[in-house]
Amino acid sequence: MPFDEIIGHRRCIDMLRRGLERDRLPHAMLFCGPDGVGKRLVARHLAAGLNCRERRQDGGCGHCKNCRLILGDQHPDIVTLQPDGNFIRMEAVRAMIQEAAVVPFYADFKVFILEKAHAMKVETANALLKILEEPLPFSKLILISHHPDALLQTIRSRCQLFRFAPLRVEEVVAILQKTGGFTAEEALQRARRAEGRISRASGIDLRAKEDMEDYARRFLQAALANEPFSEVARMLERMLGDKRLLNLSQYAARNSDSALETEISASSQAVAISREWLSEFLHALRDRLADQIGGGAGESMDMRPWLDIAREAGELCRRLDHNIRCPIALENFFLTCRAIAGGKSES
Ligand SMILES: [Zn+2]
Repeated sequence: MPFDEIIGHRRCIDMLRRGLERDRLPHAMLFCGPDGVGKRLVARHLAAGLNCRERRQDGGCGHCKNCRLILGDQHPDIVTLQPDGNFIRMEAVRAMIQEAAVVPFYADFKVFILEKAHAMKVETANALLKILEEPLPFSKLILISHHPDALLQTIRSRCQLFRFAPLRVEEVVAILQKTGGFTAEEALQRARRAEGRISRASGIDLRAKEDMEDYARRFLQAALANEPFSEVARMLERMLGDKRLLNLSQYAARNSDSALETEISASSQAVAISREWLSEFLHALRDRLADQIGGGAGESMDMRPWLDIAREAGELCRRLDHNIRCPIALENFFLTCRAIAGGKSES
């Protein structure tokens, strides 16, 4: 499968294609952008392109021995590093540096792909700098990250940046139909909730959708009633069935004592899970709002507050993407919903 058959990311692919054509690909590249949009796929095709005998600039022919081994993840000269637990290990980076200095077995270029490259402790990242400062003639390094801000500036500045955008809905549909065997309708349903991420689109549990819509309705009702946030927090936790996920009650209790120095130590994993859950929840909320607007819940209903709430929901997702603390962001969202929807009674 050459570059042409990859759906989306035309700009990045065109830049890579030109680099391959002119033999001027930088030795270190940083592929950044949301998780699950296809950065790894493009990286692997770049590795194939670098080593294909027939269609280099096209990201490989897909048929020659090098292409088949690379795309099947079995080529001895193409090495992928991933975090072991939370971090990429120092020993793995050291081994990579040693290997990068040795001539390839079969390939023209060794390619080292570092997935979740931000998951490196400072000392590991500093070890990696060595290979970036003294490039080797037959090695290429591709760093992949959905959190490039968490990388050392010294690393970022030594890599050529390739920004991968979320896929468009129609691109996600096309990929789902091509590789996932979904019907057009199901593919569209999934694509609309996937935020441009193919991994997310294929993993969505559509049966959970109705539950989420119910949660969204209850959340909205609570936001419109005059319930304190601690009540809403308890309600959300009951719905979630897992208190560890958001620690909302804990937060609400502490915050009511006006102690903002709350110690909610959500591990990065918990934040990620919360983010996934919230994203699902907010999608359901937006769908429900769209129903209210489209379904003509009242002939003279003012749509603006609902659109404002939907916009706030999007903003909340964005904030959580930047590691803003979940409970605080959710409370702000809740209070904003109440202010928007119940504005008259609040003031
Ligand atoms: Zn080939």
